[in-house]
Amino acid sequence: MNEAATKLPAVAIVGRPNVGKSALFNRLIRRKVAIVHDQPGITRDRISAVCASGTQPFVLWDTGGIFGAGEAELTGQVRRAAEEAFCDSDLLLFVVDAKEGLSPIDEELARVLRKSQKPVVLVINKIDDDKHESLAAEFDSLGFKSSIAISAEHDRGILDLLGAIDRLLPSPVVDSLSTSPQSLAVAILGRPNVGKSSLINSIVRSIADVE
Ligand code: GDP
Repeated sequence: MNEAATKLPAVAIVGRPNVGKSALFNRLIRRKVAIVHDQPGITRDRISAVCASGTQPFVLWDTGGIFGAGEAELTGQVRRAAEEAFCDSDLLLFVVDAKEGLSPIDEELARVLRKSQKPVVLVINKIDDDKHESLAAEFDSLGFKSSIAISAEHDRGILDLLGAIDRLLPSPVVDSLSTSPQSLAVAILGRPNVGKSSLINSIVRSIADVE
């Protein structure tokens, strides 16, 4: 077998608690893996899955993180979760909540994300129908070039978001120097619709569970 290993690009979902990061994660990978919960402050680990919904597959990370109860502590912890996420990522999806409006934590995160110099798509969530579209304008002040209004729960704007991700992602990296005995290249072949993506997702999930 060819020694070269292909590394999928990585996309991280970042944002303060309760903006809909898990709902977006589930929507993009088309299944329920992440816990969606009404209350901020839920403790959960970072989870990942391969997203094969767009033109090119990528590894998607939900940076749920571990959040404290107090606002000051929250800011620090959200910032640390974001910093950790963008170290390993090629693209960041910065989720904000249109219903709640712009918060100081969003502004703080925007500063941190800009410093990372990674491409960022501002994802304005909870635009559940046309009459909510005007709520998105408030987030222009964050100054991101790419922004998409979506509703993770009502499946609005997801194709536009996948298009933006495709445009901004680097092509998969072929690591021809990889000779590590622990790296194994596996090809999954089959005609359309037999469950190739589901199989990849369950393998990635079990690896994430073990780690
Ligand atoms: P996270 O903490 O950022 O991961 O947020 P969750 O995904 O757990 O969602 C927080 C809350 O927002 C839950 O009550 C979700 O049902 C709700 N939510 C998520 N996406 C949407 C959306 O598109 N529209 C509305 N109206 N609510 C949403």
